[in-house]
Amino acid sequence: MTAEIIDGKMLSNELKTNMKDEVISLKNSGITPHLTVILVGDNPASRSYVKGKEKACAETGISSNLIELREDITEEKLLNEIEKLNNDTAVHGILVQLPLPDHIEEQKVIEIISPQKDVDGFHPINIGRMMTGQDTFLPCTPHGIITMLKSKNIPIEGKHAVVLGRSNIVGKPVGQLLLNENATVTYCHSRTNDLKQYTKNADILIVALGKAHFITKDHIGEGATVIDVGINRLDDGSLTGDVDFNDVKEKASYITPVPRGVGPMTITMLLSNTIKAAKELTTSE
Ligand code: NDP
Repeated sequence: MTAEIIDGKMLSNELKTNMKDEVISLKNSGITPHLTVILVGDNPASRSYVKGKEKACAETGISSNLIELREDITEEKLLNEIEKLNNDTAVHGILVQLPLPDHIEEQKVIEIISPQKDVDGFHPINIGRMMTGQDTFLPCTPHGIITMLKSKNIPIEGKHAVVLGRSNIVGKPVGQLLLNENATVTYCHSRTNDLKQYTKNADILIVALGKAHFITKDHIGEGATVIDVGINRLDDGSLTGDVDFNDVKEKASYITPVPRGVGPMTITMLLSNTIKAAKELTTSE
């Protein structure tokens, strides 16, 4: 068996084409969706993620601006900056690129962003809404993963989904969204004993560890769907996932590549959340 590739780049382009039309019609009714991104310091990976987000906004007609702040900005000043954006009616989405410098408490920053402008879906109110199955801003990477599964009509209901990793931004929420879709979910992490015992029994395996080529064909069962969230930079500068793609593709039924997999979908879901925020904020005015 050779797995079918779920091409996140291609799916993103399809979704972005539809979003473009939606943005045009919003603009015709006087609403220009606007995303403000805050970048603190000069982490090269963060800068490249931010660039990708700005480019994707431009492609779909969403307006965006970048606020660059010095690495040594105080927490108080950063929080004030966010408050200003909360009160600015021309701004619909606010994204603070993570990670932040050590002297700034990330959770405080996440919680000061207005839940109505929280296009990353990290605010505890939005996480609570997601957990209770209410309409909300879904976190972008998990939402992108579910969209990829649905694009191929891969059954989720009643299936065993195993999530490798339990971070607040990927592992935990993707497990919750799979549960909301009626999967039976198992979480694995660094303290899990005998990892293979779980991964081999997965119909859907989500891998979000941050360890290049960690998952090989010995970890999976025949015909599993394998979603690789990992982004790891190799010594030659190229990017690779947490899954040994060439090895695993011989045994899986579906697989996502890195690059061109989950990464582009994450950005596309951010655009979708920004459009949603613009619509909701302008109708509630
Ligand atoms: P974190 O470092 O926050 O979490 C990693 C998780 O993996 C932790 O829960 C950790 O367990 C678990 N883990 C680490 N080693 C092992 C092991 N040997 N066996 C089992 N579990 C292990 O990472 P993120 O969730 O933020 O990101 C994961 C990867 O996804 C990274 O490569 C990141 O770059 C990428 N990423 C990609 C995105 C995209 O758009 N494609 C978006 C966001 C992230 P424990 O909790 O016990 O420490």
